Amino acid sequence: MEECLFCRIASGEISANIVYEDDGVVAFDDISPQAPVHTLVIPRTHYDNMSDGVSPEAMAEVFGVVPEVARLKGVDESGYRVIVNNGPDANQTVGHLHVHIIGGSAMSHGMVQMER
Ligand code: 5GP
Ligand code: ZN
Repeated sequence: MEECLFCRIASGEISANIVYEDDGVVAFDDISPQAPVHTLVIPRTHYDNMSDGVSPEAMAEVFGVVPEVARLKGVDESGYRVIVNNGPDANQTVGHLHVHIIGGSAMSHGMVQMER
């Protein structure tokens, strides 16, 4: 899966602003932030998305670091939104499982906007 963008970020082949990393996951700032804080958490192992046979343990590794990444970004007390765009209807654009952590300013209540 060398051609996968986020695999290449995880291996260090493509640079990113790394916020946190350990043996299982990497967190880095989104290149096109949609809020003052917009950080992505990915597993080092390639999965297309949550529907790609991700074990509960692997899922827990990714979601388990979210509070620490939020703390490192300074939004643990102000709050943040955690989003996974999973598959075509959710407009997933990068085919390597990733969790968005979005915060740094108050958001509107709704989070689902239908195109049709
Ligand atoms: P998706 O739309 O798949 O849920 O989210 C993909 C995210 O990856 C987008 O928010 C996009 O801005 C971000 N992204 C795409 N290419 C790069 C890149 O090369 N570096 C970083 N840091 N983020 C990227
Ligand atoms: Zn990948």
